[in-house]
Amino acid sequence: MFSVLVSSAKSSKQNKTGSWRSLTMPKYLQTNCIACNLCKLICPEGCIEGKEKNKYDSNLQYCKGCGLCAYICPKKDIEMVNENK
Ligand code: SF4
Ligand code: SF4
Repeated sequence: MFSVLVSSAKSSKQNKTGSWRSLTMPKYLQTNCIACNLCKLICPEGCIEGKEKNKYDSNLQYCKGCGLCAYICPKKDIEMVNENK
């Protein structure tokens, strides 16, 4: 019965964030990135794109603002910033 209410991981391409997100969003500094790909691997929405150093970014149409990408980044090259500033 509940299975229809649960979306599978990395299903965001079918579920646009629309008007809601937590109050923060990721900001990629793009200065110390080593292209380790960890942010991309951990993102539950599968909405991070990039392959080269300092070229990673999130598609904010799908990002939910969970902050995992910033948490995992070994170079601290992602900051969670207030969306309203
Ligand atoms: S905050 Fe980062 S990990 Fe979370 S959904 Fe957005 S891009 Fe993905
Ligand atoms: S986790 Fe940080 S260093 Fe690794 S690819 Fe993402 S932004 Fe670059």
